[in-house]
Amino acid sequence: MQDPSEKSESTLTATSETVSGTLSAGTLYIVATPIGNLKDITYRAVETLEKVDWIAAEDTRHTSKLLQALGMHRPLISLHDHNEQARMGQLLEKLKQGETGALVSDAGTPLINDPGFHMVKLLRQEGINVVPIPGPSAVITALCAAGLPTNRFSYEGFLPAKAQKRINVLTELKDDTRTLVFYESPHRLMDTLPALLEVFGANRQMSVGRELTKTYEQFVSGSVEEVLAYFTAHSDKVRGEFVLMVMGAVLEEDVDITDYDALMQSMLKQGLPVKQISEIIADYTGEKKKPIYNRVQQLKDLV
Ligand code: SAM
Repeated sequence: MQDPSEKSESTLTATSETVSGTLSAGTLYIVATPIGNLKDITYRAVETLEKVDWIAAEDTRHTSKLLQALGMHRPLISLHDHNEQARMGQLLEKLKQGETGALVSDAGTPLINDPGFHMVKLLRQEGINVVPIPGPSAVITALCAAGLPTNRFSYEGFLPAKAQKRINVLTELKDDTRTLVFYESPHRLMDTLPALLEVFGANRQMSVGRELTKTYEQFVSGSVEEVLAYFTAHSDKVRGEFVLMVMGAVLEEDVDITDYDALMQSMLKQGLPVKQISEIIADYTGEKKKPIYNRVQQLKDLV
């Protein structure tokens, strides 16, 4: 058995900059910030933002409010979708000269539907150190509490604004067996939910995470039809920020044959031969006979 003190030491290993209290020269830190609740900022994020030479921010006014709330003042440089290409060359030069910088977005993890990809790509190509400081992101925050499968999921960002394009994208995803995650704005929610109904059907399970980590946080779960009915009846809830999660398709071959264990066991007890039971179950479920035969045989050996 592992010594608990050993475990806590290994799971809490800090990287050199937090141990020594200094940052590595010529490094860009990708710093996640809260998606609503200020208390979700991490110790490492605060420590890093306090020490870097500058912070590249999606919206400098927004970030200066965050810094104010954290009681710090740091030089801010704007870096958004419209100036990233031009700005990244200047930031590269600063980093080459040994300066340290942080990249933040308005909320959550930078590069997750936020600017920064082009710059991080360039820095990696140039051999510059890029260090992630992980923290909140709406996609993971929503998934971890929705009650939909999380073993495999596909993050799809925002759906296209145009109705036909939205339907086309959803149609491509219709048979995907992974949980699908979309970001959505309040003014498109009531276009997107009917589109989900049209493509995935009324009965597909889904969950909507709204205003996560904030005062009016809410999860609305059920079939697509039920979730649409809820927001149709509660137009006051069609505001704030949304993450939409749709359960993946359940394909025929995914039918779990063990769901029929009790029935197969009962037929075994009545003395029916394994072959005949397999044929009955295969007829009933439409599944292949071989795996069913193997399962019945297993159950027989257990009896
Ligand atoms: N970088 C962010 C992240 O890591 O999640 C996402 C930025 S994206 C421009 C903004 C979208 O994220 C919102 O329109 C909403 O779909 C989702 N989002 C952000 N904060 C949220 C929150 N507190 N509750 C629900 N959704 C949120």
